[in-house]
Amino acid sequence: MQYNRVTSAVIAKLENIVGPKKVLTDRESLETYSHDEVPGTEWCRMPEAVVKPENTAQISEIIKLANSAMVPVTPRGAGTGLAAGAVPVLGGIVLSLEKMNKIIEIDRENLFMVVEPGVTTGEIQLRAREEGYLYAGDPCSAGSSFIGGNVATNAGGNKAVKYGCTSRHIYGLEVVLPTGEVTKLGGKCVKNVTGYDLVRLMIGSEGTLGIVTRIYLKLLPRPRFNSVLLVPFGDMQTAISMVPKLMTGSGIIPTSIEFMDNLCIKSAENFLNRKVPYNEAGAHFIIELEATTEAQLEEDMEAIGNACLENGCLEIFVGDNAATLEKIWKPRRVLAESLRVTSPVYCMEDIVVPVSCIPAVLEEIRRIAGQNNIKIPCFGHAGDGNIHATLLKEDMNDSLWHETKDKVLDEIYQIIYSFGGQLSGEHGIGAKRKNAMAKYMDPVQIKMIRAIKKAFDPNLILNPGKIIDVD
Ligand SMILES: Cc1cc2nc3c(=O)[nH]c(=O)nc-3n(C[C@H](O)[C@H](O)[C@H](O)COP(=O)(O)OP(=O)(O)OC[C@H]3O[C@@H](n4cnc5c(N)ncnc54)[C@H](O)[C@@H]3O)c2cc1C
Repeated sequence: MQYNRVTSAVIAKLENIVGPKKVLTDRESLETYSHDEVPGTEWCRMPEAVVKPENTAQISEIIKLANSAMVPVTPRGAGTGLAAGAVPVLGGIVLSLEKMNKIIEIDRENLFMVVEPGVTTGEIQLRAREEGYLYAGDPCSAGSSFIGGNVATNAGGNKAVKYGCTSRHIYGLEVVLPTGEVTKLGGKCVKNVTGYDLVRLMIGSEGTLGIVTRIYLKLLPRPRFNSVLLVPFGDMQTAISMVPKLMTGSGIIPTSIEFMDNLCIKSAENFLNRKVPYNEAGAHFIIELEATTEAQLEEDMEAIGNACLENGCLEIFVGDNAATLEKIWKPRRVLAESLRVTSPVYCMEDIVVPVSCIPAVLEEIRRIAGQNNIKIPCFGHAGDGNIHATLLKEDMNDSLWHETKDKVLDEIYQIIYSFGGQLSGEHGIGAKRKNAMAKYMDPVQIKMIRAIKKAFDPNLILNPGKIIDVD
């Protein structure tokens, strides 16, 4: 597809739509919108203009203009993505949703919250809590990521083992299509099989099929009691082997089962500049439990604690107040930042395998790391089979790093596909994993995805260069 540059005539029309202050063209401002959280200059690209609309009608006008001028548009939330999804890889306009940040409605009769896409996930969680409800979507980036970005990536996170990923909580979306048409998909109905499930198709489409402008979120009753167990194990194999037993044997579904290996424990410890208990352990598990009564919580904690002891854990630390909960969660929460300090250039992967395969896959990753002389700390959501294997560049020179990274990723992907896994569990494909997806996904599915993209976006205006090449 041949795209045009953003001309001064296009800038003038954008200014007409949103007002001059909401169109940015100076280099310093554009730089902020040239990357997301994927490290490395290869994942940066300067936009030609950034536009900050305040409502759906303005977005529709911008998209119509982009179609007539043949200029690509990249939607952007908070830019916390880990797949270079919001990076304008072909230049053009970045459409930032940051000004659309209102909570529109709390519907207490139907248990829904209706929001604009630029509200942070943390604000939604807090508002729900204040009202006595739970919004169960909880990516580790909740404090900064936008709900629109969570929808576009179908974000997972710590609570997905119990509550599922973002898609589980979304029943309706207002969307501006790549043609500029506006439509409302679903809404507040709990059931809906009226035609294809376009809500689910839009969720996780990474801004390639439409711009999400309004979101209908389901609220749940808030569990009144929770506590967290920090469970160190001597080695990762013993730790991870317990997960399938825990999931099937205890009859309890924890809210979270997170793991980190010893390289991660050490990295978090250095970053926080404080000693983490059992810092020599091969692995740490964080298991969170929720219940509606205190008695139920105690019973569940005892059952889970006994299961851990029977399966070889070294110790159990209990967090049951704000201070101890924070102490246990903090090292896990800072992991991404701490690994960046350990090695400013790194490659965080997001592989996902059936839960029972995690021990074997981690063993294979350890073998691949050893054979290729590279450190690959692993952490993630053990209850979902989602492993963030993170390749560290450390002191490798650039060409060795790129050569090693590509080789190691290929070896890891081959392994996970042989175990029935997938490239990404929650971060998405974006630009970062596009080539790998083309290589590993069934060509029949690639054909279907291309056909869907063309049906939604005949001029290939919206977020081109992501997920899949269409032309
Ligand atoms: C420290 C840290 C921890 C993280 N933890 C998790 C985690 O636990 N689980 C998880 O899943 N992810 C996690 N992430 C990744 C990231 O936060 C999520 O992918 C998040 O959903 C991205 O939201 P965002 O608003 O930053 O979107 P952006 O990065 O701005 O955009 C992401 C994608 O969504 C598209 N998009 C954004 N808004 C819209 C919209 N309104 N309409 C259409 N398309 C849109 C963009 O084009 C892009 O393709 C983490 C990231 C960091 C830095």
